[in-house]
Amino acid sequence: MTVDDLTVAFGHGRNRLVAVDRVSLGVPHGAALGVVGESGSGKSTLGRAIAGLVAPAGGEIRLDGRLLPPRRSRSDLRRIQLAFQNAGGSLSPRMPVARILGDAVAAAGVPRERRRDRVDELLEAVQLPTTLRDALPGRLSGGQRQRVALARALASEPEFLICDEVTSALDVSARGAMLNLLIRLRRQYGWGLIFISHDIAAVRQVSDDIAVMYLGRTLELGPGEAVVAAPRHPYTRTLIEAIPVLGEAPAGPPDDVDPPDPRHPPTGCPFHTRCPLRPRAEPAGARCVTDEPTPITRGLPHHAACHFPPPLERT
Ligand code: ADP
Ligand code: MG
Repeated sequence: MTVDDLTVAFGHGRNRLVAVDRVSLGVPHGAALGVVGESGSGKSTLGRAIAGLVAPAGGEIRLDGRLLPPRRSRSDLRRIQLAFQNAGGSLSPRMPVARILGDAVAAAGVPRERRRDRVDELLEAVQLPTTLRDALPGRLSGGQRQRVALARALASEPEFLICDEVTSALDVSARGAMLNLLIRLRRQYGWGLIFISHDIAAVRQVSDDIAVMYLGRTLELGPGEAVVAAPRHPYTRTLIEAIPVLGEAPAGPPDDVDPPDPRHPPTGCPFHTRCPLRPRAEPAGARCVTDEPTPITRGLPHHAACHFPPPLERT
């Protein structure tokens, strides 16, 4: 999977909002890319655009080198599946689990006489007991509902899976179990995976590479270990410092500045209004206000869209 210069915009004129702004990234066959960033940074819109659910304003998305058109064919839509946050809300409350999965299995073209077995296979794949076949979503725990949503995404045997905040609504133990399940399933099925979360600690556990988004732009892209151990963008550093450490008070927000209005993002570096390095107070920092750092292209080892990145560390 490769994405080049992808842009997605909503609205027109003064209300135009660029939710994804010239994003480029690549996910090698069977690899996992984590996408992290705070709420409103464009992660879900990026995921939806890659899944073919929202039409981009520009850029290219390729799967196995083949350009995917803005209007996807049904078979292309099936190849890339999206499992999203708030699974409880996305499952019809009046449909028992077997119906929800049965419909997805039917939509994937499985013949009628094979559907029941296929539903059981899917339940087994996500480690849910088949005794839950007749349960209504309201009777399930958050973790079980999220697994049903995942099983539904697997029904069409996708080559590529996008998980959008699938662990965010879960408590700590359900979250750990979900992450382990995803890691195991990815090995088993060999999908490419994009794992989207505002939680960099969760992202780190499942991802080979990590992309850090802010106001629609990728500010950092590199191997997960390197991004977490030696972040090259000050925004990434603030995300890592905000990870709670057992027994310590969590670090506060990076500063007291409100996040900018996405309809009118800051000039220059989009992060300059909140940058803890505060280079704009220095003469050299004027650049951060006037010049946008070059957008990140893919294929670089570990890149940050910052005028003052620390030297690349060998990890
Ligand atoms: P994230 O998933 O990182 O929280 P989103 O992709 O949901 O971010 O949103 C990115 C930006 O795009 C936000 O400012 C959000 O308000 C805006 N946005 C998302 N979807 C729509 C839409 N359908 N119409 C208008 N604005 C949208
Ligand atoms: Mg989102």
